[in-house]
Amino acid sequence: MNTALTPYPIGTPGTPWGDTKRAEWLAAQTRQRSYETEVLSVIEGLRARFDVETYGELTYGTERFALMAFRSRDWRDDLPVVLVTGGVHGYETSGVHGALQFVDQHAADYAGRVNLLVAPCVSPWAYERIHRWNANAIDPNRSFRDDSPAEESAALMRLVAPIRDRVLMHIDLHETTDTDETEFRPALASRDGVPFEPGEIPDGFYVVDDSESPQLEFQQAVIEAVEQVTL
Ligand SMILES: [Zn+2]
Repeated sequence: MNTALTPYPIGTPGTPWGDTKRAEWLAAQTRQRSYETEVLSVIEGLRARFDVETYGELTYGTERFALMAFRSRDWRDDLPVVLVTGGVHGYETSGVHGALQFVDQHAADYAGRVNLLVAPCVSPWAYERIHRWNANAIDPNRSFRDDSPAEESAALMRLVAPIRDRVLMHIDLHETTDTDETEFRPALASRDGVPFEPGEIPDGFYVVDDSESPQLEFQQAVIEAVEQVTL
């Protein structure tokens, strides 16, 4: 087993973080960009064409973040729902801006065929810090469960609850950054008090299937469609 030669700067090898270490980690995070300028302003510009709603609010210290979603304006209860989420990991910028671009450039193509529900930036505090976790050092993507410890996840689950049986497809946009290997995986190992085991950062586009309900043909079709624009 390989372990990192230089331990993550916060924490004691073999010991999971308590409140003090979490606070130390939080103090080391800096705001690097603006959710308001880069995301909320784009959403405002799309209000004329889509129903925009605030589905929750995060409060961290003195900061507040409105959680925003789009719905098709011609929402029809007899049509299936397609759910698109971005920024569950706030640092994965392409998902946030990809979701916004999709709404702007393509959402209208689906009018009358499906109802679209798009939450472009699920974790705005982390968007601003370019981080994977929320301010409590919790990964929202590992927190989609009842009594969630992450408000980002709990709010999204409340938004989806009334329509979850009608969701035909959910596209959750992620990316794998090089900093996963240099920062976020070491931080995770330190937080949980386990050894860091180096992994690999894959190149290119990939999809993640559901092992309990594999849809290989659909996944293949997505990859073939993406190849047209990435090759
Ligand atoms: Zn992710």
